[in-house]
Amino acid sequence: MAKLTINDIDFRGKRVLTRVDYNVPMTEQDGLMIINDDTRILATLPTLKLMINSGAKIILTAHLGRPKGERVPSMSLRPVADKLAGLIGQPVEFCDQCIGQAAGDAAAKLEDGGLLLLENVRYHAEEEANDADFAGQLAGDADVFTNDAFGAAHRAHASTAGVAGIIAARGGQCAAGLLMERELQFLGDELEAPERPFVVILGGAKVSDKIKVIDHLLEKADTILIGGAMAYTFKLARGFAVGDSLVEPDKTGIALAALQKAAERGVEFLLPTDNLISRMNDGAWTDPEVNSAEDIPDGSEGVDIGPESVARFCEVIAGAKTILWNGPMGIFEDSRFAEGTFSVAKAVCGATASGAKSIIGGGDSVKALNEAGLGDQVTFMSTGGGASLRFLEGKELPGVAALTDK
Ligand code: AMP
Repeated sequence: MAKLTINDIDFRGKRVLTRVDYNVPMTEQDGLMIINDDTRILATLPTLKLMINSGAKIILTAHLGRPKGERVPSMSLRPVADKLAGLIGQPVEFCDQCIGQAAGDAAAKLEDGGLLLLENVRYHAEEEANDADFAGQLAGDADVFTNDAFGAAHRAHASTAGVAGIIAARGGQCAAGLLMERELQFLGDELEAPERPFVVILGGAKVSDKIKVIDHLLEKADTILIGGAMAYTFKLARGFAVGDSLVEPDKTGIALAALQKAAERGVEFLLPTDNLISRMNDGAWTDPEVNSAEDIPDGSEGVDIGPESVARFCEVIAGAKTILWNGPMGIFEDSRFAEGTFSVAKAVCGATASGAKSIIGGGDSVKALNEAGLGDQVTFMSTGGGASLRFLEGKELPGVAALTDK
């Protein structure tokens, strides 16, 4: 990787500002905020342990929710400090400010290997505005900046980009944490020269969200499989009826351009040949039927790929050596429409067991794999949503660009 990582740094005695992704889901119980899922906290432990064992004084900065520059008590990071202390097995100081005298004093008190978590950076509107003065205050006296928050790296905020510029300008190093390093390795380096056949599976709701990903991957993939509601915009573009399916009629032009680019480059571009369709009746879906015709009848919606498409997609996936998957094949939240998504999930795991490298590009495909109990049977699952998509578009992320080159 072209950027410094925490393995390249001598941390002993240094003050290290570390951006982490602690945007964890919480619910209120008897006036207390309870963390429902600590996956994101657990994911930072390898990076933190490495820095602790190397004698760093660690100042953690993170955001939680969207307080929009206000001090919203339910979005305080205080419960995260307690949770982290339990998981890592050492005290974690918490400061209810992220800048100013109190934050500076708390950082100054840190001993080698100590941990301090600062309050939610988004309590200040200057964070999202990447305000230089705010970034300077957040950077404080830090000697080094490390970033393990891949999920926030697509945003040029003070805590992801601004602080790095300030610390670098005074000669400090800015490095990727281990979690960030893995994201860059799998979503970046591994897909630069993938072992072939390289099969890309894209699904989800909208063509508009993923067209730049399709465009970029058309330059790398051997086969692209399209499922989800996205497939219906392609169907509409090809002149077929889509009934009441979720489509973007103003995006048929870009769908046709993608089909043409695939033909020009010799990329196999597979759309579903059949679908499950359903109707909304008094606010409830009717049981699905298989529709093998190109046209979807009036009043019906395509809700999943059909059995013929499942078989074809799974056959292609079984022959892949590198797989990238982002987005479900249907409305998998309803178990009647989840067969396509779960069959693809099983096929991806099967190919992985036979030696393929499988990379899951974040969001709902990660959710589907976890729901199917298959999360540990793929090579890599990204922790990013928007950040993964931006990265797969071939864009450099501001939070990555800000790190020191090797
Ligand atoms: P995305 O975030 O773009 O990956 O989209 C995920 C969402 O797409 C999920 O909530 C799915 O329910 C939805 N989705 C997938 N297929 C369809 C479909 N055929 N019709 C409507 N929504 C769909």
